[in-house]
Amino acid sequence: MASWILISGGSVIDGTGAEPVADCPVLVRDDEIVAVGVDVGDDPIPRGEPVTRIDATGKTVMPGLIDAHCHTSFGEARMQEEQDLYTSHELRTLRSAWNVTKVLRSGVTGTSDPGGSYFIGVGIREGIAEGLIQGPRMTTAGRFLSTSNGISDFYPSSVGVPDSSIGKVVNTADEMVTEVRHQVKNGVDLIKIGDSPLGDYEAFSRDEIKAMSDAAHRLNKRITMHARGSNNVDSAVAAELDWIMHGNTMRDDTIERLADSGIPLAPALLLLGNLSEFGEAVGVPARKRGIYSRVLDATAESLNKAREAGVTLITGTDTGFACTPYGEWHARELELLMRYAGMTALEAIKAATHDCAIVLGEENDVGSLVAGKGADIIVVDGDPLADIRVLQQKERIETVILRGQVQTFDEDVLAQRRPYNQAQHISPADITYDLVYNGGPGEQPDVRDFASGGERELLDGLGELPVTASST
Ligand SMILES: [Zn+2]
Repeated sequence: MASWILISGGSVIDGTGAEPVADCPVLVRDDEIVAVGVDVGDDPIPRGEPVTRIDATGKTVMPGLIDAHCHTSFGEARMQEEQDLYTSHELRTLRSAWNVTKVLRSGVTGTSDPGGSYFIGVGIREGIAEGLIQGPRMTTAGRFLSTSNGISDFYPSSVGVPDSSIGKVVNTADEMVTEVRHQVKNGVDLIKIGDSPLGDYEAFSRDEIKAMSDAAHRLNKRITMHARGSNNVDSAVAAELDWIMHGNTMRDDTIERLADSGIPLAPALLLLGNLSEFGEAVGVPARKRGIYSRVLDATAESLNKAREAGVTLITGTDTGFACTPYGEWHARELELLMRYAGMTALEAIKAATHDCAIVLGEENDVGSLVAGKGADIIVVDGDPLADIRVLQQKERIETVILRGQVQTFDEDVLAQRRPYNQAQHISPADITYDLVYNGGPGEQPDVRDFASGGERELLDGLGELPVTASST
């Protein structure tokens, strides 16, 4: 006996970019959408089969959101050491299992995890599939593949990159291909390459990236890359990666090649957006906030050109850091794509549903409210086309349907926060004699913000940074 869901009365945004249809029923049988349209009723439902009826009058019915960039195992880390060195993998795994439920609660029914500690992503994906854990559809990478100059070799060589790190150092093409094979054997869906942190140089050669891409594709797996600069994006396009992350500063010729390739770009604006706009509330220094907002302005230039050139932009949030906690801000990426890439609300919804489904793989045929697609649906109390931010308000995500199942959540449990494991932090600033007895802190030198020290080079192209008052 099949089980049915009939959602009626709502305005349907189907995710394909089509205009909304008012008072449009959606009929689901088991885990599949079987009919969408104003003339759909309960005729197809055989007498006696169970039906869940959802009245969506005055509400919006749309596909569940997809997040192409959600780091399952990062644990809302406040610092890199916490992520790489502290929090045991046993506890990290338990927390990941709890965090993916928060992601689903927020209306995100599909995620792709572009890398993290051990094979926690694989374990969580399997735990969800077995029904041990409540979480979205998921694909996952393992540890990032990095060189000694890439995004995950953060510490001095005397420390190295321990097994608990989010990255794995591979410095030769042979090591790279071996690691791809090792990760695929251990169950990843995709490979994540971590090129230079800020995009100001190339941590891998083009041949090396091509070698990893070919190795992943021979094994029927996907591959993506952290690529912030033009040369990084060029390498990723030349190596025919499946999608690309970031693309903050791209030359016009790079944008042209990216558009011609048809490879989607997931900018992940949320991390920068949250730090620059909301960082003051948690003590992010004004100088850093200024840098992030200037990087966003430069990114906006690239993304607007990319969108106009026909590049497919998809939503990815870099969720998993303390500034991007699980289940809090996934839908803000749509707002930021409107602001920094010039999308309309309808285009942003398409980017977060229909276009983003590619990261879930062919076996997950979802992302639009069309007959034959998997039944991942949300009912929203509000009109996201009038104000896209309604998608960020959890209480307005009234119903979450995953694989044809209406989800229930323990809101009080999900609202809890967890302690963090800080690094061996000793003092936030220098306690000098002058500070204590002469009433002033004296000169407190800047922290080096990135291990590469490349922040200043990145800013060279962006002009002088405005120095704002009340710097902390
Ligand atoms: Zn990331």
